[in-house]
Amino acid sequence: MKKYTTILFDMDNTIFDFDEDERSSLIKTFKQFDIPATNETLTGYSQINDALWKRFEKGEITKEDIKNTRFKTFLEKFGFVCDATPGQINDCYAENLAHSGNLIEGAMELCIKLKSYGYKLYIVTNGLERTQLFRINKTGIDKIADAIFISETIGYQKPLPQFFEYVFENIEEKNKEKIILIGDSLTSDIKGALNAGIDCIWYDRKNSDYTLNDLPTFKVKDIREIENILID
Ligand SMILES: [Mg+2]
Repeated sequence: MKKYTTILFDMDNTIFDFDEDERSSLIKTFKQFDIPATNETLTGYSQINDALWKRFEKGEITKEDIKNTRFKTFLEKFGFVCDATPGQINDCYAENLAHSGNLIEGAMELCIKLKSYGYKLYIVTNGLERTQLFRINKTGIDKIADAIFISETIGYQKPLPQFFEYVFENIEEKNKEKIILIGDSLTSDIKGALNAGIDCIWYDRKNSDYTLNDLPTFKVKDIREIENILID
């Protein structure tokens, strides 16, 4: 008999290729506002955005702060002058991102296979509700997942214990030993799962080879390897 019944799936950079979605949405947005889309500007934005989300994970800032700050800081950093306000650029980017939905190769196939083996599948994501729901529905993942948990809707984000408590209260499985989380982020997914007392698979997509203080239960570099862990 298999050990787990229930899988909590992170969304961005685990099922969805967020890096690709972000990049294509940024290029589209920059074009609309005559901002040069170069490797330097695209990477520059991502660094600013990533740093803000890390602060959000720690509870230091709100998601409103992220929306209001990211393009303002970006324009200042590169000295770009733009007719539009940072808020307008942000809205345009959010719209473009909501319509993106590149998947990690093999991720959808894995979800379908796990489902056919009887697993309950839940999406657990830190993100903006409208954006995430749009992307989920576009790809059809909503038809495979048993439920979707978005931090903006819950009011707490991974790795906060309140996020996981909310999820545990709203899923069928009550035995934590039968629940496993799959995610790419050490700071939100792996830390959150370990603190919440459930097993986890670290999808080390970028081959980062970190030395961890808290070890994930499993580690994979290719999403397809998860089949070997969860299906006998
Ligand atoms: Mg992720």
